[in-house]
Amino acid sequence: MATKSLKKLGNDLAQSNKQIEILSNGIFKTGELPTFKDKISETSQFPIKAKKLEILQINVGYMCNQVCDHCHVDAGPDRKEIMTRDTMRQCLEVIKNSGAHTLDLTGGAPEMNPDFRWFVEEAAKVGIKDFIVRSNLTIIRANKKYYDLPDFFKKHNVHVVSSMPHWTRGKTDKQRGDGVFDKSIKALQELNAVGYGMPDSDLRLDLVYNPSGAFLPGDQEAMEKDFKKALMEDFGIEFHNLFAITNLPIARFLDYLIASENYEDYMYSLVEAYNPSAVENVMCTNTLSISWDGYLFDCDFNQMLELPVNSKSRHVSDFNEELLEGRNIVISQHCYGCTAGAGSSCQGIVA
Ligand code: SF4
Ligand code: SF4
Repeated sequence: MATKSLKKLGNDLAQSNKQIEILSNGIFKTGELPTFKDKISETSQFPIKAKKLEILQINVGYMCNQVCDHCHVDAGPDRKEIMTRDTMRQCLEVIKNSGAHTLDLTGGAPEMNPDFRWFVEEAAKVGIKDFIVRSNLTIIRANKKYYDLPDFFKKHNVHVVSSMPHWTRGKTDKQRGDGVFDKSIKALQELNAVGYGMPDSDLRLDLVYNPSGAFLPGDQEAMEKDFKKALMEDFGIEFHNLFAITNLPIARFLDYLIASENYEDYMYSLVEAYNPSAVENVMCTNTLSISWDGYLFDCDFNQMLELPVNSKSRHVSDFNEELLEGRNIVISQHCYGCTAGAGSSCQGIVA
């Protein structure tokens, strides 16, 4: 299990250009596999165009209390990129003035940003319809100062979306680190205790599943049933929905694929599972991702690959929704992860 980010280790794959090089060369350069651009061109879906903005996803920093093997952010305790209050103020202007109905805060562990609570309080006042915080759960048990997070989330009617790769200790700890399962269970019980995840509760609690190895997720609906049954029977835990997310071949998951000699097989399985009907609804078509330093990206994955939006409006300080709508989405081979099988997004399947 990793304890440091690729960046801290000085690993080449911490550099986005190295990742893009790998994704552009090899099997894609030789023509063994079609590039994503060629694949979507077969069904006249190139270029993918941004539609009306619905979701603003803001990454408030790459610092995290965990160092999960599959992390596409390469997050960890050693990452220092943190959104400042000034940039948060600029984001608040964007939230107020944009037509987006959903705000989605992510990280790292967003709760570790020292201005996280201030930002949540201010953003909650804007009255956005769906206010999501992506919590890794263990942060709630990491330190006394986070113990009241369930009450804080409740007070601001935050929709909690939490990672939970499996209902068993073994599979969860293998992917996310020793002790993660027990802390996650405790955190879920605490969220349930304040009303999150109950069948008729407006306090939304959803879980995110992603595979623990070089394979694609199974059927989302069937997995949700299995998770619900196991978590209820074993721990009395309730939650609303399960989102099944495909691991995209970037950052630490790319490193894992290469180190375990699974990279080519994984790319083959993504291309084989390509589903043209998922392309229409990939999340970049209605989402904008904002980085810790205020730059705009088509999605959190493009943010990590440092592929900025193809628009004159590139930063929260010059945010222009009209200019951004209809932009051509910036793609590469990692996009196959969003179009495999039933598709994948931060809200689970898309097709
Ligand atoms: S996957 Fe989530 S919890 Fe794990 S290191 Fe990355 S940001 Fe942190
Ligand atoms: S990786 Fe990002 S840009 Fe590519 S299809 Fe998925 S959401 Fe769109």
